[in-house]
Amino acid sequence: MSSDLVIVYHRQPYEEVELDGKIEFRENKSPNGIVPTLKSFFGKVDHGAWVAWKQAEDTANPGFDRVVEIEDDYGKYSVSRLPLTENQVKQFYHVTSKEAFWPILHGFKERYNYDPVDWPNFRQVNWSFAEAAASEAAEGALVWVHDYNLWLVPGYLRQMRPDVKIAFFHHTPFPPPDIFNVLPWRKEITESLLACDAVGFHIPRYAANFVQVARSLTDVDVTERVRVSEDLISEGTALTERTVPTRLSWKGRDVIVNTASVGVDTAYIAERAATDETANQVARIRKEMGDAQLILSVGRTDYTKGGVEQMQSFERVLEANPELHGKVRLMHVSVSANRNMTVYAEVQAAIEETAGRINGRFGRLDWQPISLISRPIPFAELVAYYRAADVAWITPLADGMNLVCKEYVSARTDGAGVLVLSEFAGAAVELGSAVIANPFSNRSMDEAILRGLRMGEDEQRARMAELKKAVEKYDVGAWGRSIDEVLGKVGGSPSPKP
Ligand code: UDP
Repeated sequence: MSSDLVIVYHRQPYEEVELDGKIEFRENKSPNGIVPTLKSFFGKVDHGAWVAWKQAEDTANPGFDRVVEIEDDYGKYSVSRLPLTENQVKQFYHVTSKEAFWPILHGFKERYNYDPVDWPNFRQVNWSFAEAAASEAAEGALVWVHDYNLWLVPGYLRQMRPDVKIAFFHHTPFPPPDIFNVLPWRKEITESLLACDAVGFHIPRYAANFVQVARSLTDVDVTERVRVSEDLISEGTALTERTVPTRLSWKGRDVIVNTASVGVDTAYIAERAATDETANQVARIRKEMGDAQLILSVGRTDYTKGGVEQMQSFERVLEANPELHGKVRLMHVSVSANRNMTVYAEVQAAIEETAGRINGRFGRLDWQPISLISRPIPFAELVAYYRAADVAWITPLADGMNLVCKEYVSARTDGAGVLVLSEFAGAAVELGSAVIANPFSNRSMDEAILRGLRMGEDEQRARMAELKKAVEKYDVGAWGRSIDEVLGKVGGSPSPKP
């Protein structure tokens, strides 16, 4: 099949459910709307394709159709499922991507684990993704590759199909050279990214870091810089420079460097927040809380999310402020995406141990300071907790964007509530009206949560109004429009249908 737009994303764009021996493809309604936004691009072309992987025992005879044709509200598209063995998935995804790339991308050099990496396997898997994309792409098509586990795809694709346009989007942070260049494959990865027509990041700082990395390893030229929008400039980590490179030239080709901060589906979340079901749940939660304040923390179980550090802050605050005993509770939702991986099992154990210690130290029969939840909460229920919480406490040590904080703001159509946010979440660049905390400073963490708990209603409303403006300005639709603009500059498809 010849497609004008090929999206390469490691996961399939739907849930595959087997019913009475028949496979059904069901829409997986994600609250943040990334997958639907990606799929909405299929509406702009005659035919699209999505390339993902699916596990198979025997890749030559996978036992499933390699390509399925879908026609839904988003348009007509094929989904090409690349068969990978369990070992290939383990090596490319769990080992190379999560043990080597992930810590480097988030600035944790000490956690970087080189020894188990099977680089030939990583190359092979990326080569296979590139082949699958090449076989789907029409002449001059646009191929849009997503995330670091497919870093080598653009370089391979450029060799296979010099006619196609290639765009790449990073959903993670991107570190400066003194961290990124720890990777022994730094040049190979960077040269693959420079084979793109456009390379995208969430925020200007990550884009600037990438360009510094590229300049440290290659003779790339910066041919265009622009001043960063005023609302993305704040002190410190928000940006290191006031201008960012937006166009590079390498080996006679132009590479656009763009930023498009991913947002949430604000209308969908507001709609969920307005249901009677949500109102009933909120009433139940508030009744259970009595006159105690509720602090809500939600995140994946990952060392980057700073769960242990946050609880340690809570412990210090309880120790120093006995008047808060019985008057405040922390609901800490920490959900593991990869229970089988040792590193995440260790983080989970540390979180459980810390919560247990704090509850043991301060708890009473009528009051438990921390409620630790390790199972995923369905989004509809999460919205009720967003509505019921006095403070959302979101303090990752590093986070590409962080959507939970944007969901919290979107759910607060009542205009109340406090967001305490780490300055190391990409979202902090836009959400300067939150109470900003530095999770590497005990004092900053402790002061920020106390400030959140003590904030008066007028200040809460004033800040929430500003946060709402920012979350609406940078919602998932804006992310789509901003990408659309870049893809338009790149040329190729998707061109608007006549
Ligand atoms: N989430 C959820 N239930 C939970 C915990 C998280 O539905 O119990 C969702 C949350 O609503 C958000 C996503 O998981 O949409 C987490 O996205 P985020 O960007 O904050 O973090 P990531 O896990 O992508 O690093």
